[in-house]
Amino acid sequence: MLIDGKKVAQDVLEMCRAEAKELIDQGLRPGLAVVLVGDDPASAVYVGSKVKTCADLGFHSVEKILPASTRQEELLEIVQQLNADPSIHGILVQSPLPPHMDEQAIVRALDPRKDVDGFHPENVAKLVMEDPSALVPCTPAGCMKLLEQAGIPLAGANVVVIGRSMIVGKPMAMLLVSKAANATVTIAHSRSRDLPRICRQADIIIAAVGRPEMVRADWIKPGAVVIDVGINRIAAPEKKAGYRLVGDVAFAEVAPLCSAITPVPGGVGPMTIAMLMKNTLQAARQSLHQSSAQKS
Ligand code: NAD
Repeated sequence: MLIDGKKVAQDVLEMCRAEAKELIDQGLRPGLAVVLVGDDPASAVYVGSKVKTCADLGFHSVEKILPASTRQEELLEIVQQLNADPSIHGILVQSPLPPHMDEQAIVRALDPRKDVDGFHPENVAKLVMEDPSALVPCTPAGCMKLLEQAGIPLAGANVVVIGRSMIVGKPMAMLLVSKAANATVTIAHSRSRDLPRICRQADIIIAAVGRPEMVRADWIKPGAVVIDVGINRIAAPEKKAGYRLVGDVAFAEVAPLCSAITPVPGGVGPMTIAMLMKNTLQAARQSLHQSSAQKS
């Protein structure tokens, strides 16, 4: 089975549209601010599509585009302004930031209630503690949604997550091991020994490595489920753009062995934006409870 991320993302976005309408009818328009520093072309594309999706769902959105020469203090000042802006419920500072900036300092400056990327230490802790008010990083949340929609049983399953980043691997593992999912999780990384052998034990493999087509057919237990998070550009002179996108999994040889697999593109990728919109709605909804708690 091919897991269709475009379709699942579209369904999530339709639910977001309906929920946004309900909130707007109650007088609360969900608002997302996206901050881009520098002129990385891929980041500009991501930011553009986030803002477009906001408009499409009826969200309020603010786009701040700053030159690569922006000083860290200036960016912190903008973050503080957005933290204080009641029309903004979610703030996303697009990664990567220019090398002279300390990304962690920026993340820590965000109001955790508006941290729709789920990178602030408070949200990381809430995720580990299984607190339902946690804002969960969008890509792993999207992978969970794909597994759920494809009807893949997680309880007791052996899952190997390849990669231990704070953006994908670690939060992914936390979601899978949570009481809501009950999987048995192995986190593999660049120092793991005999990765093919580790992967052959897996009922489910989540590949989040950033190495084109690293996961090969002889790593796969027949019937396994494979979620490919990787987005890698490889040279393709025959294409107009000069490159094509491949995942971390050698799709052509791995797919015939799997019971379900995500393609690249069209798998995990479209889920990330959809979950960002879902997180913005969650932050907006939670802001309602916070303001009523302050009043009482
Ligand atoms: P990262 O570079 O921060 O982390 C990669 C991880 O892979 C590291 O933890 C490292 O230990 C591990 N690793 C590296 N080489 C390895 C090896 N040879 N064997 C085993 N493990 C190894 O990357 P990231 O931000 O987690 O992203 C991973 C991939 O997912 C990238 O291709 C990225 O483009 C993609 N990505 C996609 C989305 C999406 O929306 N679909 C979102 C985020 C990241």
